[in-house]
Amino acid sequence: MKEKEYRSLILKDLKKQVMDSISISLHELVVEIVRTGFRCSGCGRCCKFSTGDNSVLLTYFDIDNLKKSGNINAIEPTVAEEDMFLADTEGNVHTFGWRLKRKKNGECVFLDEGGCTIYPLRPLLCRTYPFYIAEGKLEISECGGKGRVLPLYHARRLANEVLQRYIIELRDTMMTYRHFNNESVSLVMDFLPKSDFQLIVHDSRGKWKLDDE
Ligand code: SF4
Repeated sequence: MKEKEYRSLILKDLKKQVMDSISISLHELVVEIVRTGFRCSGCGRCCKFSTGDNSVLLTYFDIDNLKKSGNINAIEPTVAEEDMFLADTEGNVHTFGWRLKRKKNGECVFLDEGGCTIYPLRPLLCRTYPFYIAEGKLEISECGGKGRVLPLYHARRLANEVLQRYIIELRDTMMTYRHFNNESVSLVMDFLPKSDFQLIVHDSRGKWKLDDE
């Protein structure tokens, strides 16, 4: 299958998932969250690298919040540590989306001894942890707070945010693919970049050229 056809198929599938998200029942999400139980113990484990992948991928909703609060320098392209690169035939390296930076020890840049320093404005992924929706179904990550009884109003707020995150992420991905589809660039897998490569980040608002540092 040609790359262009493959991208069109992905776009079609994303559109379908956005349409299908309308039929996700908020009530059922609340019931499942109550049945699972969850209360954050404030351990900060999900913000630390030692417990596994702690990448906080950002939607444009999160990026706008970080911008408004003067924290835009805390974001980086998702390619920063991956060892698999996508390059075009001119030698530019391409990547998709943004995430929060981490400290040298792997902890989130916003974590300190007192916990999250941007708690009221933390990204959607953090607000909804350990819950997320994948292909229309509620999924639950590993978390020490699981199984603890939570008040109904908390479950309702959580269910709302989980659904909101799912729809925003789907739309973000769809818009990113749309922009990218309009480009005539052809990508090659497993390319090892030269030291002076040009990094191009694609996101739901277009593309951004960054110099590798
Ligand atoms: S933004 Fe806050 S809650 Fe999210 S990973 Fe960083 S420290 Fe943890």
